[in-house]
Amino acid sequence: MITTLVTDITVEDICKGFVYNEYEGKGLFGLSGKLVIQPEYQRNYIYADGKRDVAVIDSILKGYPLGLIYFTKVAEDKYEVLDGQQRITSFGRYVTGKFAINDQNGIPRYFSGLAKDMQDKIMQTTLTIYICEGTESEIKEWFKTINIAGIPLNEQELSNAIHSGPFVTKAKEEFSNSQNANIQKWSAYISGSVVRQDYLRTALSWVSKSEIDDYMSRHRYDDNINELKAYFTSVIDWVSSVFTDVESEMRGLPWGEFYEQYHTNAYDPDEVSAKLKELYSDDFVHDRKGVYEYILGGCIDSKLLNIRIFDERTKKTVYTRQTDEAKSKNISNCPLCAMGTDNNKNRIWKITEMDADHVTAWSRGGATDIDNCQMLCKTHNRAKGNR
Ligand SMILES: [Zn+2]
Repeated sequence: MITTLVTDITVEDICKGFVYNEYEGKGLFGLSGKLVIQPEYQRNYIYADGKRDVAVIDSILKGYPLGLIYFTKVAEDKYEVLDGQQRITSFGRYVTGKFAINDQNGIPRYFSGLAKDMQDKIMQTTLTIYICEGTESEIKEWFKTINIAGIPLNEQELSNAIHSGPFVTKAKEEFSNSQNANIQKWSAYISGSVVRQDYLRTALSWVSKSEIDDYMSRHRYDDNINELKAYFTSVIDWVSSVFTDVESEMRGLPWGEFYEQYHTNAYDPDEVSAKLKELYSDDFVHDRKGVYEYILGGCIDSKLLNIRIFDERTKKTVYTRQTDEAKSKNISNCPLCAMGTDNNKNRIWKITEMDADHVTAWSRGGATDIDNCQMLCKTHNRAKGNR
């Protein structure tokens, strides 16, 4: 790969022909049409937060360096931004009046409202640009490793860069586009940020059973995302028909895995809803996120709910009571050992050798209080298991 340092291109040069697409949230072109600001392997513009974009303009006005910018030369007089897309889009948007910065008196100033000398200062600022020439794979490999300035690429942004092509472009249009009207509905089940590719990552993870890069590589040159979209829609439709209530704990659960495991079972949404309400109002249920898998699995595996356990004082009290009684009768202080016929039938266990057990199981309505607590030796407690 060959690199050439260029130091005479100004902000004004880049902003000639600057186009920002509000709908897709990206800066598209600049440098009189010679520069593609967001090639398909780049991530969406994420500086439009009133902080990072403002900081770019502040830096320019204070004369601070903006950092290195990298272009790749794709043809004679044609370039793509390899690194610096966020900074370029920030000043491009400022110069074209898309946002304001506060002056020293706290008054918002659009570019057009700045004093002439400040406007000139911005426009005449020169950039430090390396222009790189190489094969596509050389450039992408390098792009993957630079992460020079700003916020490093996350896992999915890297995957998008490595597998860039028609599939990624179409997938981003659907799942990384905050203008997509479905996002609102999806956000009930998916956590994270649309523009930082968390929705796309979730969709890919579901359809690929977590083999994201493998899937992206196989579909890289597909001209459609039909399978990805259909699978994702099936999962969302399934969840929203089984669970008719929307609770905040549903966000970010592994719905794709649940779908694979449970979608062939039939559920009555009214019963599910009633069970859900019951568990949500049960003080002993510690883990509300676990409620969903518990219900899907037929309300059997109460480990998922992280049921509140007996406290140390309760255990000690019950241990003492059981042990005193056992000693007076010369039987084991584990009631199940005492009923047996082996050597343990009159064994007195230490408290550390015993565990607290619900006499009436929690799943049958037994409470976690002292009246429902008995101490069992570890072996019997384990054997009794999860009734
Ligand atoms: Zn026992």
